[in-house]
Amino acid sequence: MIYKSKNPFETQKIASNLAKKIINSDQKILGRTAVVLGLEGELGAGKTTFVKGFAHRLGAGNIKSPTFILIKKYSIKAQNSHFKYLYHLDCYRLKDHKDLIPLGIKDMTREPHSIVLIEWSDRVKKILPKKYIKIHIDHINKNKRKLEITEHRL
Ligand code: ADP
Ligand code: MG
Repeated sequence: MIYKSKNPFETQKIASNLAKKIINSDQKILGRTAVVLGLEGELGAGKTTFVKGFAHRLGAGNIKSPTFILIKKYSIKAQNSHFKYLYHLDCYRLKDHKDLIPLGIKDMTREPHSIVLIEWSDRVKKILPKKYIKIHIDHINKNKRKLEITEHRL
């Protein structure tokens, strides 16, 4: 699915709608592992902006960019949500996927009650599950963005 965004609020709205769709999905379709979203796009494309809109919908608090922290864990407060935790990762400073292994990425992506959002997921492709949601953001100009959201299967 392709979306156009003219400002950060529109990007957050697109993210919020996706969050709603995910939490309302049938648990049988969701499966027995975490839902993983991989965000691609250059610096300033709007990856963190997207995560903020997504987390807000789930009542998961105020997202701070984890660029220096790498991983942040938030509790999902949305009522009746099958999901309990949201992890936000930023892989910008990583050499490769191996840096994520000591941080427990494998367990994180296996937890059925978690949603894992990974910025710069194209840098850590090897740790991505076979099935994940890919969000590719193209920076068109100062305020315009093109977002492509696809269900990716390796
Ligand atoms: P990234 O995490 O990809 O590096 P950020 O979300 O941190 O990007 O920053 C995106 C910047 O671009 C913010 O300053 C935001 O206000 C600005 N911006 C302008 N237009 C848009 C848009 N349509 N969508 C998202 N961000 C936008
Ligand atoms: Mg960012």
